[in-house]
Amino acid sequence: MSVRSMEHKDKKVLCIGLVCLDIISVVDKYPEEDTDSRCVSQRWQRGGNASNSCTVLSLLGSSCAFMGSLCAGPVASSSTGSRTILHINRNVPDVTAEDFSKVDLRHFKWIHWEGRNVDEQLKMIQQVARHNAALPLQQRITISVEIEKPREPLYQLFAYGDVVFVSKDVACHLGFQTPQSALEGLRCRVKAGAVLICAWAEKGADALAPDGLLIHSDAFPPERLVDTLGAGDTFNAAVIHKLSNGARLEEALTFGCRVAGGKCGFHGYGGIADMVTG
Ligand code: ADP
Repeated sequence: MSVRSMEHKDKKVLCIGLVCLDIISVVDKYPEEDTDSRCVSQRWQRGGNASNSCTVLSLLGSSCAFMGSLCAGPVASSSTGSRTILHINRNVPDVTAEDFSKVDLRHFKWIHWEGRNVDEQLKMIQQVARHNAALPLQQRITISVEIEKPREPLYQLFAYGDVVFVSKDVACHLGFQTPQSALEGLRCRVKAGAVLICAWAEKGADALAPDGLLIHSDAFPPERLVDTLGAGDTFNAAVIHKLSNGARLEEALTFGCRVAGGKCGFHGYGGIADMVTG
């Protein structure tokens, strides 16, 4: 089908950010310095926020695309389900506005940026805004951004997303102790009519709706906490999956918590397909 005749709902979700290799060593307890311990298991798994979100989007049945370049990663500990992440990043180039200018935007209904090289990302978002300006409302590309790391320059992204995901980590760094207080305190940073979403691990997630109301979903804890790595990426993907298919915010938020909570009950993402079909 040519892109001209494609209906908006059949277009793809594009995620822009990192793909990397996660080397996951599962240990009984967090290793003490200068000791020699054996891993319970070790696995290599494709990771990176944008890449993980693409994995989950496609498992949920959304047609999606990834844009980014490569790098390597983490360690987890099984008695508590806690995790510690180590990074190695040797000059991996981020996507630039020039790279992005080569993308045919007509293929996409939603573009998600994992906040990274913010100056370039703002230019990309402006390209989308220009593309959108020539289109009727129903055909515009929705812009979502994730502000996960507590780095001041990334906070510029608050003002540019139609949907903004802000992490618990960022909220805590900005002095908020609950998701509700974070949404109240950060609502002045997002544009009018935007959705602001703050996930809070085992407390679930909260959202500020376009009309200014606050919405909450409880978490859906698995029977046994196995692997929280990528819970946030899973949550974001599940919310985007629902919203990009026209669901209401409440439904999307609850679905996000359900899929992300379920994901914490198994390693990796494979089990998500069973959750949605089963
Ligand atoms: P991450 O640390 O990967 O960024 P978050 O803490 O933002 O993940 O959690 C995202 C979502 O995943 C939460 O809104 C919640 O629904 C689910 N989640 C994460 N940890 C747990 C947990 N321990 N129990 C139940 N659900 C969880």
